[in-house]
Amino acid sequence: MRGAVIHAPGDVRFETLDDPKIVQPTDAIIRTVATCVCGSDLWPYRGLEPIGDPHPMGHEYVGIVEEVGDEVTSVKPGQFVVGSFATSDNTCVNCRNGWQSNCLHREFMSTCQADYVRVPNAQGTLVATGEHPDGAFVPSLLAVSDVMGTGWYAALAAEVKPGSTAVVVGDGAVGLCGVIAAREMGAERIIAMSRHEARQKLAREFGATDIVTERGEEGVAHVKDLTDGVGADSVLECVGTAQAVRQALRSARPGGNVGFVGVPHDVAIDGQELFFSHVGLRGGPAPVRRYLPDLVDLVLTGRIDPGKVFDLTLPLEQVAEGYRAMDERRAIKALLIP
Ligand SMILES: [Zn+2]
Repeated sequence: MRGAVIHAPGDVRFETLDDPKIVQPTDAIIRTVATCVCGSDLWPYRGLEPIGDPHPMGHEYVGIVEEVGDEVTSVKPGQFVVGSFATSDNTCVNCRNGWQSNCLHREFMSTCQADYVRVPNAQGTLVATGEHPDGAFVPSLLAVSDVMGTGWYAALAAEVKPGSTAVVVGDGAVGLCGVIAAREMGAERIIAMSRHEARQKLAREFGATDIVTERGEEGVAHVKDLTDGVGADSVLECVGTAQAVRQALRSARPGGNVGFVGVPHDVAIDGQELFFSHVGLRGGPAPVRRYLPDLVDLVLTGRIDPGKVFDLTLPLEQVAEGYRAMDERRAIKALLIP
Protein backbone atom coordinates (compact mmCIF):
# COMPACT_ATOMS: atom_id res chain seq x y z
CA MET A 1 0.00 0.00 0.00
CA ARG A 2 0.97 3.65 -0.06
CA GLY A 3 1.08 6.25 2.69
CA ALA A 4 2.62 9.40 4.15
CA VAL A 5 5.99 9.25 5.92
CA ILE A 6 7.59 12.22 7.68
CA HIS A 7 11.39 12.39 7.34
CA ALA A 8 12.22 15.82 8.70
CA PRO A 9 10.53 19.16 9.30
CA GLY A 10 8.84 20.20 6.05
CA ASP A 11 9.56 16.81 4.48
CA VAL A 12 6.53 14.51 4.17
CA ARG A 13 6.77 11.90 1.42
CA PHE A 14 4.26 9.56 -0.15
CA GLU A 15 5.84 6.11 -0.11
CA THR A 16 5.17 2.44 -0.61
CA LEU A 17 4.68 0.76 2.78
CA ASP A 18 4.01 -2.78 4.00
CA ASP A 19 0.32 -3.66 4.12
CA PRO A 20 -0.87 -3.71 7.74
CA LYS A 21 -1.73 -7.12 9.20
CA ILE A 22 -3.76 -8.31 12.15
CA VAL A 23 -1.25 -8.45 15.02
CA GLN A 24 -3.55 -8.89 18.03
CA PRO A 25 -6.90 -10.73 18.02
CA THR A 26 -8.45 -7.37 19.03
CA ASP A 27 -7.27 -5.63 15.82
CA ALA A 28 -9.15 -4.72 12.67
CA ILE A 29 -7.79 -3.68 9.29
CA ILE A 30 -9.75 -1.02 7.47
CA ARG A 31 -9.51 0.30 3.93
CA THR A 32 -9.31 4.06 4.27
CA VAL A 33 -12.19 5.93 2.63
CA ALA A 34 -10.95 9.35 3.79
CA THR A 35 -8.22 10.70 6.04
CA CYS A 36 -6.79 14.14 6.63
CA VAL A 37 -4.00 16.32 7.99
CA CYS A 38 -4.46 17.49 11.59
CA GLY A 39 -3.32 20.77 13.10
CA SER A 40 -1.29 18.68 15.54
CA ASP A 41 0.55 17.05 12.60
CA LEU A 42 1.98 20.50 11.99
CA TRP A 43 3.94 20.51 15.28
CA PRO A 44 6.55 18.00 14.01
CA TYR A 45 6.18 19.34 10.45
CA ARG A 46 7.24 22.76 11.73
CA GLY A 47 10.13 21.32 13.74
CA LEU A 48 8.42 22.10 17.06
CA GLU A 49 8.30 18.43 18.08
CA PRO A 50 11.13 15.92 17.59
CA ILE A 51 10.60 13.52 14.67
CA GLY A 52 13.27 10.85 15.27
CA ASP A 53 13.37 8.15 12.60
CA PRO A 54 11.14 8.58 9.55
CA HIS A 55 7.66 7.32 10.44
CA PRO A 56 4.09 7.19 9.05
CA MET A 57 1.62 9.93 9.95
CA GLY A 58 -2.08 10.48 10.50
CA HIS A 59 -4.64 9.70 13.18
CA GLU A 60 -7.99 10.55 11.58
CA TYR A 61 -9.85 7.99 9.52
CA VAL A 62 -13.10 6.57 8.25
CA GLY A 63 -13.11 3.39 6.26
CA ILE A 64 -14.47 0.02 5.33
CA VAL A 65 -13.59 -2.95 7.50
CA GLU A 66 -11.45 -5.41 5.54
CA GLU A 67 -10.55 -7.95 8.20
CA VAL A 68 -11.02 -8.42 11.93
CA GLY A 69 -9.14 -10.38 14.59
CA ASP A 70 -10.72 -13.38 16.35
CA GLU A 71 -11.93 -11.37 19.33
CA VAL A 72 -13.68 -8.63 17.35
CA THR A 73 -17.42 -9.18 17.04
CA SER A 74 -18.85 -5.64 17.12
CA VAL A 75 -17.90 -4.82 13.54
CA LYS A 76 -17.50 -7.03 10.50
CA PRO A 77 -15.89 -6.86 7.07
CA GLY A 78 -17.74 -4.62 4.64
CA GLN A 79 -19.08 -2.20 7.26
CA PHE A 80 -18.36 1.55 7.11
CA VAL A 81 -16.76 2.60 10.39
CA VAL A 82 -15.76 5.73 12.24
CA GLY A 83 -13.16 5.61 15.03
CA SER A 84 -11.14 7.90 17.22
CA PHE A 85 -7.51 8.96 17.29
CA ALA A 86 -7.17 7.20 20.67
CA THR A 87 -8.19 3.54 20.65
CA SER A 88 -10.01 2.10 23.63
CA ASP A 89 -11.35 -1.28 24.72
CA ASN A 90 -14.47 0.50 26.03
CA THR A 91 -14.62 -1.96 28.95
CA CYS A 92 -11.88 -0.97 31.44
CA VAL A 93 -12.66 1.23 34.43
CA ASN A 94 -11.49 4.43 32.74
CA CYS A 95 -13.64 3.66 29.70
CA ARG A 96 -16.65 2.86 31.86
CA ASN A 97 -16.15 6.22 33.56
CA GLY A 98 -16.31 7.87 30.14
CA TRP A 99 -12.61 8.58 29.71
CA GLN A 100 -11.93 6.32 26.75
CA SER A 101 -8.98 8.48 25.65
CA ASN A 102 -7.32 7.35 28.90
CA CYS A 103 -8.18 3.66 28.39
CA LEU A 104 -5.85 1.33 30.26
CA HIS A 105 -5.17 -0.34 26.88
CA ARG A 106 -5.07 2.87 24.87
CA GLU A 107 -2.98 3.07 21.75
CA PHE A 108 -2.86 6.29 19.76
CA MET A 109 -3.47 5.99 16.04
CA SER A 110 -0.49 7.17 14.03
CA THR A 111 -0.51 5.60 10.55
CA CYS A 112 -3.80 6.75 9.04
CA GLN A 113 -2.61 8.79 6.06
CA ALA A 114 -2.44 5.55 4.11
CA ASP A 115 -4.51 3.20 1.97
CA TYR A 116 -5.04 0.71 4.83
CA VAL A 117 -4.90 1.09 8.59
CA ARG A 118 -4.56 -1.33 11.51
CA VAL A 119 -6.92 -0.33 14.32
CA PRO A 120 -6.00 -1.80 17.74
CA ASN A 121 -8.82 -2.35 20.27
CA ALA A 122 -11.21 -2.45 17.32
CA GLN A 123 -14.08 -3.89 19.35
CA GLY A 124 -14.25 -0.86 21.60
CA THR A 125 -13.00 1.76 19.18
CA LEU A 126 -14.94 1.42 15.95
CA VAL A 127 -18.55 2.50 15.45
CA ALA A 128 -20.29 1.19 12.32
CA THR A 129 -22.90 3.22 10.50
CA GLY A 130 -26.12 1.36 9.71
CA GLU A 131 -25.45 1.30 6.01
CA HIS A 132 -22.76 2.86 3.84
CA PRO A 133 -23.34 6.61 4.14
CA ASP A 134 -23.83 8.82 1.13
CA GLY A 135 -20.47 10.24 0.03
CA ALA A 136 -21.65 13.74 0.96
CA PHE A 137 -21.51 12.74 4.64
CA VAL A 138 -17.97 11.38 4.54
CA PRO A 139 -16.14 14.67 5.36
CA SER A 140 -18.37 15.28 8.39
CA LEU A 141 -18.01 11.68 9.61
CA LEU A 142 -14.26 12.05 9.27
CA ALA A 143 -14.42 15.30 11.25
CA VAL A 144 -16.25 13.45 14.01
CA SER A 145 -13.26 11.10 14.45
CA ASP A 146 -11.16 13.94 15.82
CA VAL A 147 -11.85 17.66 15.38
CA MET A 148 -15.61 17.56 16.00
CA GLY A 149 -15.22 15.14 18.89
CA THR A 150 -12.50 17.36 20.32
CA GLY A 151 -14.54 20.54 19.89
CA TRP A 152 -17.43 18.76 21.61
CA TYR A 153 -15.26 17.80 24.55
CA ALA A 154 -13.88 21.36 24.78
CA ALA A 155 -17.43 22.69 25.12
CA LEU A 156 -18.36 20.05 27.72
CA ALA A 157 -15.13 20.65 29.66
CA ALA A 158 -15.87 24.38 29.59
CA GLU A 159 -19.38 23.53 30.89
CA VAL A 160 -21.29 25.33 28.15
CA LYS A 161 -24.93 25.53 29.20
CA PRO A 162 -28.14 26.81 27.60
CA GLY A 163 -28.21 30.60 27.63
CA SER A 164 -24.52 30.94 28.47
CA THR A 165 -21.74 32.92 26.81
CA ALA A 166 -18.87 30.98 25.28
CA VAL A 167 -15.56 32.19 23.89
CA VAL A 168 -13.64 30.07 21.43
CA VAL A 169 -9.88 30.71 21.26
CA GLY A 170 -8.50 29.36 17.99
CA ASP A 171 -10.02 29.38 14.52
CA GLY A 172 -8.55 26.12 13.29
CA ALA A 173 -10.76 23.12 12.61
CA VAL A 174 -11.12 22.24 16.30
CA GLY A 175 -12.06 25.80 17.26
CA LEU A 176 -14.61 25.98 14.47
CA CYS A 177 -16.08 22.64 15.59
CA GLY A 178 -16.08 24.05 19.12
CA VAL A 179 -18.42 26.76 17.83
CA ILE A 180 -20.78 24.05 16.53
CA ALA A 181 -20.62 22.26 19.89
CA ALA A 182 -21.28 25.43 21.89
CA ARG A 183 -24.31 26.16 19.70
CA GLU A 184 -25.63 22.61 20.07
CA MET A 185 -25.25 22.88 23.85
CA GLY A 186 -27.36 26.03 23.83
CA ALA A 187 -24.88 28.88 24.24
CA GLU A 188 -26.71 32.11 23.52
CA ARG A 189 -23.64 34.11 22.69
CA ILE A 190 -20.58 32.60 21.02
CA ILE A 191 -17.53 34.81 20.64
CA ALA A 192 -15.03 33.43 18.13
CA MET A 193 -11.50 34.79 18.27
CA SER A 194 -10.22 34.90 14.70
CA ARG A 195 -8.39 37.24 12.42
CA HIS A 196 -8.92 35.37 9.17
CA GLU A 197 -11.86 36.34 7.05
CA ALA A 198 -12.70 32.92 5.62
CA ARG A 199 -12.59 31.36 9.09
CA GLN A 200 -14.70 34.16 10.59
CA LYS A 201 -17.30 33.49 7.91
CA LEU A 202 -17.38 29.78 8.70
CA ALA A 203 -17.49 30.51 12.45
CA ARG A 204 -20.57 32.67 11.87
CA GLU A 205 -22.14 29.99 9.72
CA PHE A 206 -21.54 27.49 12.55
CA GLY A 207 -23.20 29.80 15.09
CA ALA A 208 -20.72 32.44 16.29
CA THR A 209 -22.53 35.66 17.23
CA ASP A 210 -19.44 37.85 17.70
CA ILE A 211 -15.92 37.91 16.30
CA VAL A 212 -12.92 39.23 18.22
CA THR A 213 -9.90 39.83 16.02
CA GLU A 214 -7.43 41.01 18.67
CA ARG A 215 -5.10 38.61 20.46
CA GLY A 216 -3.43 38.58 23.84
CA GLU A 217 -4.39 41.26 26.36
CA GLU A 218 -6.23 43.27 23.70
CA GLY A 219 -8.30 40.21 22.88
CA VAL A 220 -9.08 39.66 26.57
CA ALA A 221 -10.09 43.32 26.91
CA HIS A 222 -12.44 43.03 23.94
CA VAL A 223 -14.04 39.86 25.39
CA LYS A 224 -14.57 41.66 28.69
CA ASP A 225 -16.17 44.59 26.84
CA LEU A 226 -18.66 42.12 25.41
CA THR A 227 -19.34 40.36 28.73
CA ASP A 228 -20.25 43.04 31.30
CA GLY A 229 -16.59 43.54 32.11
CA VAL A 230 -16.19 40.16 33.84
CA GLY A 231 -15.49 37.59 31.13
CA ALA A 232 -17.32 34.61 29.68
CA ASP A 233 -19.02 31.67 31.38
CA SER A 234 -17.14 29.19 29.23
CA VAL A 235 -13.93 29.39 27.22
CA LEU A 236 -12.79 26.76 24.73
CA GLU A 237 -9.01 26.84 24.26
CA CYS A 238 -8.24 25.16 20.94
CA VAL A 239 -4.66 26.18 20.15
CA GLY A 240 -2.16 25.05 22.79
CA THR A 241 0.32 27.94 22.79
CA ALA A 242 1.24 29.85 25.94
CA GLN A 243 -0.46 32.97 24.62
CA ALA A 244 -3.68 31.15 23.76
CA VAL A 245 -3.91 29.45 27.15
CA ARG A 246 -3.27 32.72 28.99
CA GLN A 247 -5.84 34.44 26.79
CA ALA A 248 -8.37 31.70 27.54
CA LEU A 249 -7.86 31.77 31.31
CA ARG A 250 -8.16 35.54 31.43
CA SER A 251 -11.26 35.57 29.21
CA ALA A 252 -13.26 33.46 31.67
CA ARG A 253 -15.28 35.12 34.42
CA PRO A 254 -14.78 34.24 38.10
CA GLY A 255 -16.55 30.90 38.44
CA GLY A 256 -16.29 30.29 34.71
CA ASN A 257 -14.63 27.29 33.10
CA VAL A 258 -11.94 26.74 30.51
CA GLY A 259 -11.82 23.58 28.42
CA PHE A 260 -8.37 23.22 26.87
CA VAL A 261 -7.86 20.85 23.99
CA GLY A 262 -4.95 22.39 22.11
CA VAL A 263 -1.96 20.18 22.92
CA PRO A 264 0.09 22.48 25.22
CA HIS A 265 3.50 23.49 23.94
CA ASP A 266 5.65 25.47 26.36
CA VAL A 267 2.63 26.35 28.46
CA ALA A 268 3.14 27.16 32.13
CA ILE A 269 0.16 28.12 34.25
CA ASP A 270 0.68 30.60 37.07
CA GLY A 271 -0.65 28.92 40.21
CA GLN A 272 -1.41 32.14 42.05
CA GLU A 273 -3.21 33.65 39.07
CA LEU A 274 -5.30 30.49 38.67
CA PHE A 275 -5.98 30.33 42.41
CA PHE A 276 -7.29 33.86 42.63
CA SER A 277 -9.23 33.71 39.35
CA HIS A 278 -11.79 31.13 40.50
CA VAL A 279 -11.66 29.70 37.00
CA GLY A 280 -12.16 25.95 36.52
CA LEU A 281 -9.84 24.18 34.16
CA ARG A 282 -10.12 20.81 32.43
CA GLY A 283 -8.40 19.57 29.29
CA GLY A 284 -6.69 16.66 27.68
CA PRO A 285 -7.18 14.43 24.66
CA ALA A 286 -10.91 14.24 24.05
CA PRO A 287 -12.70 10.99 24.93
CA VAL A 288 -14.16 11.05 21.43
CA ARG A 289 -15.45 7.48 21.70
CA ARG A 290 -17.92 8.60 24.39
CA TYR A 291 -19.60 10.96 21.92
CA LEU A 292 -19.16 9.01 18.68
CA PRO A 293 -22.61 7.40 18.40
CA ASP A 294 -24.38 10.71 19.11
CA LEU A 295 -22.14 12.74 16.83
CA VAL A 296 -22.53 10.23 13.99
CA ASP A 297 -26.30 10.60 14.42
CA LEU A 298 -26.12 14.40 14.41
CA VAL A 299 -24.20 14.19 11.13
CA LEU A 300 -26.40 11.60 9.43
CA THR A 301 -29.59 13.46 10.38
CA GLY A 302 -28.12 16.63 8.85
CA ARG A 303 -28.13 18.50 12.15
CA ILE A 304 -24.41 19.38 12.05
CA ASP A 305 -22.03 19.66 9.12
CA PRO A 306 -18.51 19.90 10.56
CA GLY A 307 -17.10 18.60 7.27
CA LYS A 308 -17.20 22.21 6.06
CA VAL A 309 -13.87 22.70 7.84
CA PHE A 310 -12.27 20.81 4.95
CA ASP A 311 -11.57 23.54 2.44
CA LEU A 312 -9.06 21.55 0.43
CA THR A 313 -9.56 18.06 -0.99
CA LEU A 314 -6.61 16.20 -2.46
CA PRO A 315 -5.85 12.70 -3.64
CA LEU A 316 -3.84 10.93 -0.93
CA GLU A 317 -0.73 10.91 -3.13
CA GLN A 318 -0.64 14.71 -2.79
CA VAL A 319 -0.47 14.53 1.00
CA ALA A 320 2.70 16.67 1.06
CA GLU A 321 0.75 19.51 -0.56
CA GLY A 322 -1.89 19.10 2.16
CA TYR A 323 0.76 19.73 4.83
CA ARG A 324 2.18 22.70 2.92
CA ALA A 325 -1.22 24.31 2.42
CA MET A 326 -2.08 24.00 6.12
CA ASP A 327 1.37 25.11 7.25
CA GLU A 328 1.06 28.24 5.10
CA ARG A 329 -2.53 28.70 6.31
CA ARG A 330 -3.82 28.50 2.74
CA ALA A 331 -6.17 25.79 3.97
CA ILE A 332 -8.00 25.23 7.26
CA LYS A 333 -7.89 21.45 6.87
CA ALA A 334 -6.93 19.14 4.04
CA LEU A 335 -9.11 16.13 3.23
CA LEU A 336 -7.23 13.23 1.62
CA ILE A 337 -8.91 10.61 -0.52
CA PRO A 338 -7.01 7.39 -1.32
ZN1 LIG B 1 -10.53 1.05 28.40
